[in-house]
This record gives sequence, structure tokens and C-alpha cells, in this order.
Amino acid sequence: METYDVAIVGGGVAGLTAAIYAARAGKQAIIIEKQDRLGGRAITNKKNGAYFNLGGHALYRGDALATFRELELNLPGDQPSIDAYGIWKGKLSVLPMGVTSLFTTPLLTWKGKMEVAAWLAKLAKLDTHQYDQISLREWIETNLQDPMVRNVFYALLRTASYAMAPDLQAAGQVLKQLQNSMHGVLYLDRGWGVLVDELRKKASKCGVHFLIKNKVNRIEHQNGMVQHVLCEDGTRVSARNIILTTSPAIAHELVPDAEATALHTWKEQAIEVTAACLDVALRRLPKPKQQFVYGIDQPVFLSNQSRAAYLSEDGAQVISLIKYQGMETNSEKDLQDLEQTLDLVQPGWRDELVAKQYLPKITVCHDFMHVKRQENPGPAVPEINGLYVAGEWASHGELLVDAATASAKRAVQHILSHEEMERTPYEHRNIV
Ligand SMILES: Cc1cc2nc3c(=O)[nH]c(=O)nc-3n(C[C@H](O)[C@H](O)[C@H](O)COP(=O)(O)OP(=O)(O)OC[C@H]3O[C@@H](n4cnc5c(N)ncnc54)[C@H](O)[C@@H]3O)c2cc1C
Repeated sequence: METYDVAIVGGGVAGLTAAIYAARAGKQAIIIEKQDRLGGRAITNKKNGAYFNLGGHALYRGDALATFRELELNLPGDQPSIDAYGIWKGKLSVLPMGVTSLFTTPLLTWKGKMEVAAWLAKLAKLDTHQYDQISLREWIETNLQDPMVRNVFYALLRTASYAMAPDLQAAGQVLKQLQNSMHGVLYLDRGWGVLVDELRKKASKCGVHFLIKNKVNRIEHQNGMVQHVLCEDGTRVSARNIILTTSPAIAHELVPDAEATALHTWKEQAIEVTAACLDVALRRLPKPKQQFVYGIDQPVFLSNQSRAAYLSEDGAQVISLIKYQGMETNSEKDLQDLEQTLDLVQPGWRDELVAKQYLPKITVCHDFMHVKRQENPGPAVPEINGLYVAGEWASHGELLVDAATASAKRAVQHILSHEEMERTPYEHRNIV
């Protein structure tokens, strides 16, 4: 039986990124994925000629984009305009996103406009780390005076993180995401499936092996060292290092005696963020100006992704709607709220419908930077030599897919540094 240097459980963005970086460092790497295709939550489905991601996806200017650029991935797409509307008391109003809209918006008083103008100037240079330990609510209530300015910030920051938890969300990380979004986001032509495809091609080229449609059932370890990955069909993959990119709950389930490891803390402290997502492809837009909308007094968001990316083969417009969910969800009510949002923004949309996708409750992240976190997960599981975690929840301050790529690189870096240390004679360690 061949022994791999690195076996990676899960072939989403984190797994693919880890495999590429390990292979580029000369390591024999294998990805084991339970689904019949790679990509995890970054896949794209094609329906009636329209490309639907699993809910609206935007690439921020953070770690993921920098990583994909470093890997020289070919990711065509464009930056959408930020001219936006807000929904307040059932009506659409221009949102203050720039200088012109700031002066024309009916949502704010003169004093409110002055406060937003000051923040627009200040935000780009803000040291967001100083707010890492306080909640988003505390930041908003302490730093913003005007009630409507507060409402607008709650809406913008909810969209930046997908979390409906202002009392738990650490302010620093989400303010950083808002800062990144001020440089514009990227919508990808033909959806994030292209990104997955590019990562897969890069991984294959580097010599990464794949075991697809094979669920991992157990991680075998002995005397504090990883040994094998055991798959559902009986396949046993021998590996010196194993990176788990599953959810923290599944990682805990896969590892015998996980209660005695940090995996237990990471599972217990995790707070899941979910959303209801409605995507529609419309032959034409009944209201062509209304393409980008934040709910202010309701937790919804709408974006016509086709305004910046090629997302259908016959010119249909692909609109993504999201309802941010708290602890309690109601699939029918969420769909009703999303359809009502479409009725308001694009009245008559049903007559233009080409394709539709509804995801009643999808996990956006298994955990995020919240004020109740005891510690940041990973990269190494300290109690078991050679065991690592990565994935969007293994964040050390990054958000969403930025956390997936950053945590994957952290795990590989740790493996390489650990090997380097093992090669160094004991008396020379810790000298540098
Ligand atoms: C609705 C929605 C909107 C989003 N919008 C954005 C956005 O705008 N911007 C942004 O940056 N991010 C966004 N994200 C987040 C982004 O999609 C994720 O951060 C990223 O795709 C997560 O990658 P991952 O590899 O960490 O996890 P996953 O993609 O979940 O990959 C984990 C993989 O592990 C596999 N697996 C699990 N258990 C096993 C097992 N036992 N054996 C083998 N394989 C297993 C799974 O099948 C899966 O393929 C959004 C997510 C959602 C759901």
C-alpha cells in the first residue's frame, strides 16, 4: 500500500487548495471526496441554459482572490456596480453607497448623511483589528449615532458576513470584509464551478490523486500519530498527514476518541450560519434599474449577478436572492419572503421565468469569528501528530472562502515546518 505524504478529506475549495500547495512543495497528495464531483459548496448547476451557484456568490478582495492569482487561475468575470436600493417599510429607496446617492437618498436626514459621509472617508483606513474582541452590535451602537445609519450598517454588515447574529459576531472581521468590498467584488462568468474546474486542473497538473464518490468513515490513529483514512467501501489510504476539510461536527465524528482532543472544543464552540437562497433566470428584467437591493428592515438581499458576469447562454438575467436565517427557520415562509421581495423589485417576474432554484436552508459557514469562541481552530490537532483541519470554519480572522483558502495554506505550511523541524538535529532546534 502506497503511503501518501498528505491525504485530504473533502474536495471543496479548502481541500483543493491544500492539495495544490502540498503538491507544489513536492508532497504526494490525495483528495478523498464523498460526492460524485469536486467543489463542495462552490459548485455551479446549469438549468435551462442558466448557471446557478449554490446561492449568490461574490469573490471579495481577500485571501482567496490573492491565492487564485498566485496560482494563475483563469477566472473571467467582472465587478458589479454598487448602485443599490434599500427596502424600508415595504418601499424601495436609493441607498447611500457613494457621493451622489448619499445626497439623493430619502432615507437619511442631513445629519445622517453627514455621518455616513464621514464613515465613507474613514472606513478605508480603519484598523479593524482593534474591534476583534467586541460584538458587532457594540461597535454599531457605540460608533454610530443616527438610528437610520445604524440600520443601514446592520444591513451592509449582515450581507458581508451572512450572519444574523450582531450580538455574537466579532466586529473586526466583518468590518474588514466591508473594507474589502469597498474595492469591489468579483462575479465569475459561468459561476464558481469555473473556479472549481480551474483548481481541479491545477491539482491534476501538480500530480494530485483523486478518490471521488468515496465517503470517509474513520481516521485511524495510534500512539498519538495518524495512520490511515478508512473509506466506506473498505479502501484504506495510508498517510503521514491528514487534513480534514469537513464540518467540525463530521471531523469530530471521524476521529476515534476525539473528545480528548481540540476537535471537541472546536465542535462545541461552532455556531452555524445558514441561509435560504432563491435563484431565478429571467428572460428580461421588468425593472432594469433595480438590480441590487438590501433589505433594511428585513433580512433579505437581491443581486442581479448577470449585470457583471456571463451567467446564461441565451441572455437571461440570473438574479440571486438570499434570506439570512437566525436560529429558527421556516422554509415556506422564507420562500414567501423571497418571492415577495422579487414582486417588489421585479414585478411581473413570473411571466419572464426561465429557470429557478430554491435552497431552503444551506450552511454558509459551520462557524465564524464570534465573541464566544474559546480558540481559533487548527491548523494542527495538537493531540494527534499529523492531523490537521481546514475549511471556512477554521478561520483565524478571515471570512467565508477567504478562510477556506487561508486555513488550507496554514495546514500545509504547518506540515512543511514540522517536517523541517524533524530533519533538524535536536541540538540545532529553536536556534533561529
Ligand atoms: C449560499 C452561500 C453563499 C455564499 N456566498 C459566498 C460569497 O459571496 N463569498 C464567499 O467568499 N463565500 C461565500 N460562500 C462560502 C463558500 O461557498 C464556502 O466558504 C466554500 O465553498 C467552503 O469551502 P470548503 O472547502 O471549506 O467546504 P465545502 O465546500 O463544504 O467542502 C467540504 C467537502 O468535504 C466533503 N466531505 C464531507 N464529509 C466527507 C466525508 N466523510 N468523506 C469525504 N468527503 C467529505 C463534502 O462533500 C465537501 O465537498 C457562500 C456559501 C453559501 C452556501
